Amino acid sequence: MNENLLDISDGKLYDRNDMVKVGCHDCVGCSSCCKNMGQSILLDPYDIWQLTTNLKKSFEELLVSSIELHMEEGLILPNLRMVQLAAASDEEGCSFLDKDGRCSIHTFRPGICRLFPLGRNYEPNRLQYFLLKDACPVQGKSKLKVEKWLGIPNSKAYQEYLIRWHNLTKAVRSLVGASLEEENKAKAITMDFLSSFFIKPYDCEDFFEEIHLRMDQWEERNGKH
Ligand code: SF4
Ligand code: SF4
Repeated sequence: MNENLLDISDGKLYDRNDMVKVGCHDCVGCSSCCKNMGQSILLDPYDIWQLTTNLKKSFEELLVSSIELHMEEGLILPNLRMVQLAAASDEEGCSFLDKDGRCSIHTFRPGICRLFPLGRNYEPNRLQYFLLKDACPVQGKSKLKVEKWLGIPNSKAYQEYLIRWHNLTKAVRSLVGASLEEENKAKAITMDFLSSFFIKPYDCEDFFEEIHLRMDQWEERNGKH
């Protein structure tokens, strides 16, 4: 565990089958991790598949209503959009918060929302989790298995996908970085990435089969890094 993580966590790394103290009793009226999050709630292809399928909206339609794009180290990535919560307030909240301060898409909320107050620690072939210190104000949390907390069916396939996705995005960042002197090439890679993994609809039966196919195709076009 690196020093930065030691500063912000309880100093332990957890595997998906480990128990961790995260159970916050259904958030008991709190929605603090859904507010004032800026562009930090990043969406990955699994999240986009879940949102487009369950809301029956295209990626472009989500961009109009509830998500936005931002640039990060040469990649264009989607994130949940924060909106002003009340006319006379500076407070912003997720566009999916309902009038009672609850998540209106709870059953298919994005992975980062499911994680909180856990964070992900990636190594090339391993994904572990750390508990963010003092991030969630609820006292007397219960212990739960990490995979139960995440509540995603087929957590093994999900985790394998996340590791490969993380490695691929790192490789794309390097590729864009190495192409910066050729502006058109860097732009073409960025747009191909956005289009291949986010704009192209996920109208598939098996998300994991589809995403691995798309990642294979990306590596065939751009090389495996
Ligand atoms: S901060 Fe904790 S209790 Fe509050 S909404 Fe987030 S996870 Fe729930
Ligand atoms: S999607 Fe739901 S859980 Fe995630 S930030 Fe928005 S309201 Fe909160």
